[in-house]
Amino acid sequence: MRIIDLSSPVDASFFEPDPVVHEILTPAQGAVHMSEEMREHFGLDFSPDELPDAEFLSLDRITLTSHTGTHVDAPSHYGTRASYREGGPRHIDELPLDWFYAPGVVLDLSGREPGTVGSDELKREFARIEHTPEPGEIVLLHTGASGWVGTRRYFTDFVGLDGGAVHLLLDLGVRVIGTDAFSLDAPFTNIIQRYRESGDRSVLWPAHFAGRDREYCQIERLANLDALPAPYGFHVACFPVRITGAGAGWTRAVAFVDDSRPS
Ligand SMILES: [Zn+2]
Repeated sequence: MRIIDLSSPVDASFFEPDPVVHEILTPAQGAVHMSEEMREHFGLDFSPDELPDAEFLSLDRITLTSHTGTHVDAPSHYGTRASYREGGPRHIDELPLDWFYAPGVVLDLSGREPGTVGSDELKREFARIEHTPEPGEIVLLHTGASGWVGTRRYFTDFVGLDGGAVHLLLDLGVRVIGTDAFSLDAPFTNIIQRYRESGDRSVLWPAHFAGRDREYCQIERLANLDALPAPYGFHVACFPVRITGAGAGWTRAVAFVDDSRPS
């Protein structure tokens, strides 16, 4: 059994519309800090030099959004309306864990111009790989966009799904749809341009807004999908970090591949 990392890093050196701030307290700084805290809060005298190597423990303080790095979007991210259930959409900490460990299917949507992919293209891909997603399977979209991670281009150059494509997957019983792009919708600039040209409000974030009527999750900013040896026959784990009341949670998404098994 092999584990393939499908996550992209949280990296403060990357270009991000919301820059990541990563402050590191080194083990030596941690020793000084701890010594000061002991004196201030407990009246205890403890010198940093009394520690082995005069070092205590490091600490990272990170400022980032819940949508930075590989993460799972919860239904509450999509809006406050949830026509499918009483009590409003669920937050990331309220979703069943079995949604996030399931057989995976990867679809090849690479080599396309920025914009959306429709249901007919997904059906062609099901035919090509000779597998139609089954209820509970986690569908991963390999758009190729993870090649631009860390750069401006990552936010403007990728494909998303249109509303029909999302509904097709949800009709099949899929509850988690992942992409290696910044978003499961087309880039912001592409959406606004098509909206200005057409005046058609259905082009506005159809993949996310579909989640106001049907409960499902997205994984965004996956990576390394081309390392999967076959379009299906592997398991995906993408448990979101348990952040109370949040619309998303980071995940170290991985695939489990059994190389001894013919696919
Ligand atoms: Zn997101």
